[in-house]
Amino acid sequence: MVITGPSGVGKGTIRQEVIRRTGASYSVSATTRLPRAGEVDGRDYYFVDRQTFQRMIDDDELLEWADVFGRLYGTPEKPVKQAIEQGRTVILEIDVQGGLQVRRKMPEATFILVLPPSDEELARRLRGRGSEGEAEADRRLAAARKEIEAAERSGAYKHKVVNDDLEQAVRQVVDIVNEERSGP
Ligand code: 5GP
Repeated sequence: MVITGPSGVGKGTIRQEVIRRTGASYSVSATTRLPRAGEVDGRDYYFVDRQTFQRMIDDDELLEWADVFGRLYGTPEKPVKQAIEQGRTVILEIDVQGGLQVRRKMPEATFILVLPPSDEELARRLRGRGSEGEAEADRRLAAARKEIEAAERSGAYKHKVVNDDLEQAVRQVVDIVNEERSGP
């Protein structure tokens, strides 16, 4: 199951809560970005250098990967395959470009697009992140709009969840997980 959406939309919070409630497995990504305060290697991400990431690409270890704001992010394929073989539901929380790569390789996956309630609200949330300054917030907003457009255009996202009220958004995603588990 792929949860995607633009940065600032709250997909990380939704993903954490959905995993807590459903017991689904989380696919831990590799990234070249540095850990933020409180992040743990192997739990939040595998924090690797560019050389290691490049080796993972060369050795075909990644199910998908993308450059997000100049940093590389990718999904190690083996743990995903293993979890699926064990009959588990695996959740990937990745960007739109990555989601579209997964669709090519695993069209049977379920794709969920998390959307902001409005463009104004998305802008407010991205600015609210603070630390980065106005120019950076504008850049992220432009990128977020493009991501939404690309996701909509692809037609890959059967499920759309508007993150207006967090609890409601979490419930919608939990329902989708349960529906997929019980089969058609
Ligand atoms: P952050 O640095 O804030 O944790 O993540 C930045 C963006 O990268 C988010 O939109 C997140 O969903 C995305 N991301 C995280 N892991 C992966 C991954 O493995 N592949 C792709 N394509 N995007 C990822």
